[in-house]
Amino acid sequence: MAEFTMELNDEQKEVRDWLHGFAADVIRPAAAEWDEREETPWPVIQEAAKVGIYSLDFYAQQYFDATGLGIPMAMEELFWGDAGIALSIVGTGLAAVGVLANGTEEQIGTWIPQMYGDANDVKVAAFCSSEPDAGSDVASLRTRAVYDEAKDEWVINGTKTWATNGGIANVHVVVASVAPELGSKGHASFIIPPNTPGLAQGQKFKKHGIRASHTAEVILDQVRVPGSCLLGGKEKLDERLARAREKAAKGGERVKNAAMATFEASRPAVGAMAVGTARAAYEVALDYARTREQFGRPIIDNQGVAFQLADMRTQIDAARLLVWRASWMAVNGKPFTGAEGSMSKLFASETAKKVTAQAIQILGGNGYTREYPVERMHRDAAIYTIFEGTSEIQRLVIARTVSGMPIR
Ligand SMILES: Cc1cc2nc3c(=O)[nH]c(=O)nc-3n(C[C@H](O)[C@H](O)[C@H](O)COP(=O)(O)OP(=O)(O)OC[C@H]3O[C@@H](n4cnc5c(N)ncnc54)[C@H](O)[C@@H]3O)c2cc1C
Repeated sequence: MAEFTMELNDEQKEVRDWLHGFAADVIRPAAAEWDEREETPWPVIQEAAKVGIYSLDFYAQQYFDATGLGIPMAMEELFWGDAGIALSIVGTGLAAVGVLANGTEEQIGTWIPQMYGDANDVKVAAFCSSEPDAGSDVASLRTRAVYDEAKDEWVINGTKTWATNGGIANVHVVVASVAPELGSKGHASFIIPPNTPGLAQGQKFKKHGIRASHTAEVILDQVRVPGSCLLGGKEKLDERLARAREKAAKGGERVKNAAMATFEASRPAVGAMAVGTARAAYEVALDYARTREQFGRPIIDNQGVAFQLADMRTQIDAARLLVWRASWMAVNGKPFTGAEGSMSKLFASETAKKVTAQAIQILGGNGYTREYPVERMHRDAAIYTIFEGTSEIQRLVIARTVSGMPIR
């Protein structure tokens, strides 16, 4: 187990500074343009690929960092640059993690490189779980995968929604039900290879924020994929389903906890994104408050402004500490007995919403215009309390965990 410390090591600091340089020099200057265009910023993704930030190697290096701080540190810096562009850069990683976590070595080796492409021909990937009638209530998803034994193929039908990179991805990872009677325990993930017939993009959403990130419906109509596209393989699935059936007969408690542990481990990464956006807005507000003069003195001379900045900074630091704690716990296999992953995501995302709103207030009229970045950051921040489990769902998880009661 890595020794606990509150400080990044030299190597981490180097990576952080390198990422910060990319975020400051490449991402931030492009942010307003791609927000207005509401399109995937392919040239920026390509730049990131050229320097090695958009790659499996980079993502895996951070993911397997023994302190747990690699991913949160990377997320904070990239999202400090711009949330929409950063999500376009890390969206593929979220799909890749699904394969890394559940795939066989062969599946990892075959599909992850195709998710990224290469610096001359970058590709993206999508993770498709949510459906029109299955958002917070993931267990109720209706997409079905049926095994065609004669052909060793899976036939998938359904409609996915809100998929980041949905329809423009080279590789889609789709969660479908293979055993509806088991609810979420009857779900399995499938790779949909490039150009598979039957997969089509539905509507592309016009969004409030993170507009440089593509979000769309994905329609699956009689999609056939080879048996080798079932993540983890058929044997493992059959064993898992048999265990789930057995446990369901006994009350299903342990299976439920295992599923929750996975979410708990991934949520701090979203918290770190929120910390990045909050810090970005806070820095703009601090700088503005020092230079903007009213009544013959900088506005920061007023406690009414300075105290807001003090609160903003305190909350951002507290959010980062919760994120780091949960990330450290995840990598060291500590049980989330207090729903620490959900806590970090809840607090960081609510902090980002609050801090970006305060930043607009501190910039006054300028804060409300697109001449300054804080209005964009405020729009972007609103996503953090929604995706990867809404704030209400995080509270539900925390409340159930700390009380031991089936709160609903
Ligand atoms: C920009 C964007 C990108 C996304 N990217 C992806 C992606 O790549 N892949 C993917 O699979 N999904 C993705 N999502 C989906 C996202 O995870 C869902 O939007 C989210 O889980 C909420 O589901 P919902 O929108 O259906 O809201 P609902 O579940 O309908 O919730 C509506 C409201 O009801 C509240 N609510 C629901 N149930 C309860 C309860 N039991 N107690 C209290 N309150 C409750 C919620 O908190 C919320 O306030 C994305 C969403 C967005 C907006």
